Amino acid sequence: MSHVITTEGLTKAYGSRTVVDSLDLRVPEGRVYGFLGPNGSGKSTTMKMLLSLVRPTRGEIRVLGRPMDRRTRHELTPLIGSLIESPPGYGHLTGRENMAIVRRMLGLSERRVERAVATVRLRDQMDKPVRAYSLGMKQRLGIAMALAREPRLLILDEPTNGLDPAGIEEIRDLLVSLAGEGVTVMVSSHLLDEIDRMASVLGILAQGRLIFQGTREELFDRSAPDLIVETPEPERALASGLSAVRVREGLRLAGRDGGSTAALVRHLVRHDVPVHGLRRVERSLEEVFMDLTGREGLS
Ligand code: ADP
Repeated sequence: MSHVITTEGLTKAYGSRTVVDSLDLRVPEGRVYGFLGPNGSGKSTTMKMLLSLVRPTRGEIRVLGRPMDRRTRHELTPLIGSLIESPPGYGHLTGRENMAIVRRMLGLSERRVERAVATVRLRDQMDKPVRAYSLGMKQRLGIAMALAREPRLLILDEPTNGLDPAGIEEIRDLLVSLAGEGVTVMVSSHLLDEIDRMASVLGILAQGRLIFQGTREELFDRSAPDLIVETPEPERALASGLSAVRVREGLRLAGRDGGSTAALVRHLVRHDVPVHGLRRVERSLEEVFMDLTGREGLS
């Protein structure tokens, strides 16, 4: 698999405080990469470093196969669309006037701009002043600005922040369809729910460190499911020294992988506990995430 973004040991410190710590990112081509982490975990700082808007303290960045630094950024940025301080645009100007500014600044054709506006489905709203737009429309206009240069890579910082479920759905459909056309999309969020169904690869930050990177399935594999032991004699099992909580069917034991499940079965047999059934309880992605981030949750 080829990677559109790779970093080695990417680090940013402000004074003595390290806010992004030794990241080895791997963003695969043509996928939606969900960059997830609580507020303040370092997502924006990382994205700004990827765009060479913030200078790394240490580490290497390669974007689209080339080192990204102050010398190369002028060649690389035309290939990247980004939405960092969102939403952009002048409120007193119409959508059309805003897009015209972007078009002139970047030297783009009318056709490209029209295509970007059509992609985000804002064609009917272009003559309204941007201040009359809903937040979702403003975000879509920002994405149209990023798309107008027909980038190979899109870097979007919290594009779903503050949107209602319908607005989130629209952004999700848009990003998934762009990835389907071969555009690599890196999108950040502090809310797992907002990103879960659009991203096929996840990178999870906690306090500046990358605590997980991989597919959704790999994230699930990381978690050991709880186990329900169905027994009419839970007291006997508890008396044998098992650490478990009582539930309707018998007992529930936390986080058991294959090996510890086998050990549990041997223990139950040894202590003559009648077992009527054993059942795994899969966790939700949210629970897996909470386990990884030390049950801090995402807020
Ligand atoms: P996120 O995008 O995940 O919310 P940020 O990257 O914005 O996180 O911030 C990570 C940490 O870095 C925060 O604690 C923030 O206060 C700090 N930080 C960000 N920019 C600066 C700066 N220019 N100077 C000092 N600290 C900063």
